[in-house]
Amino acid sequence: MADVVLITGASRGIGRATAKLLGARGWSVGINYAQNEHAAQEAVAEVEQAGGKACAIRGNVADESDVMAMFDTVESTFGRINAFVNNAGIVAPSMPLADMSAERLKRVFDVNVLGAYLCAREAARRMSKDRGGNGGSIVNVSSAASRLGSPHEYVDYAGSKGAIDTMTLGLAKELAGQGVRVNAVRPGLIDTEIHASGGRPDRAVLLGAQTPLGRPGTADEVAEAIVWLLSDAASYITGSLLDVSGGR
Ligand code: NAP
Repeated sequence: MADVVLITGASRGIGRATAKLLGARGWSVGINYAQNEHAAQEAVAEVEQAGGKACAIRGNVADESDVMAMFDTVESTFGRINAFVNNAGIVAPSMPLADMSAERLKRVFDVNVLGAYLCAREAARRMSKDRGGNGGSIVNVSSAASRLGSPHEYVDYAGSKGAIDTMTLGLAKELAGQGVRVNAVRPGLIDTEIHASGGRPDRAVLLGAQTPLGRPGTADEVAEAIVWLLSDAASYITGSLLDVSGGR
């Protein structure tokens, strides 16, 4: 049976690094993205060069019909999924909660919470053995922010990742008898473009120097943890929240 994975937000950053690493292990990878078609096609080429198969699938994780369609597309292209990486996520510009608009809060929670929950639901439906699935593994991409709170930066984002941690704990128990393991990684300060989208492109480099390991992490280092949790090497691990945060 071929290994088939859907990764949300895989056109850039952590999702793309994970796609490439799985490609090197021979996986077929559905590369979801929101808008950046060029980056998504680059990610597809990287997976193929690494030895895997890939297809790019545009879709907004916060839109239920887009979510259904992205799972349908990966399965009609490559076959039944046995892994899902719930990675797409956003931040908004740094500010205290007192200054955040309702529109901003809605956008962050729509993508990071509603989107992640809709995607996890769809993965559960397709992977659970009682529903005709083959079992497998889900990795949710949370954040160290869920335990730090991100004061004066993004307590909305931090709270959205708290929801991911809690969902991981509950869904792991729901799916344990269905042949599906569910875990989360909690990256710390990782040098990707997400910080620029929050208005601070140098945030990971500046703050990373203050972590115990003295530097920001790389997307490749987070990908290693995700791929390990997906693999049979992590066969007795479910409901775990793995910090990939340089000791922060
Ligand atoms: P990134 O470099 O900004 O990449 C974000 C990815 O998500 C892109 O592929 C983007 O697609 C996609 N995306 C954004 N909104 C989407 C939506 N509504 N529907 C579908 N895809 C969407 O981010 P990253 O740093 O790799 O972060 C990945 C995950 O790690 C996020 O959940 C983030 O919260 C988490 N994380 C990151 C860090 C860090 O320091 N970097 C730390 C902790 C946790 P387009 O290319 O089309 O825009």
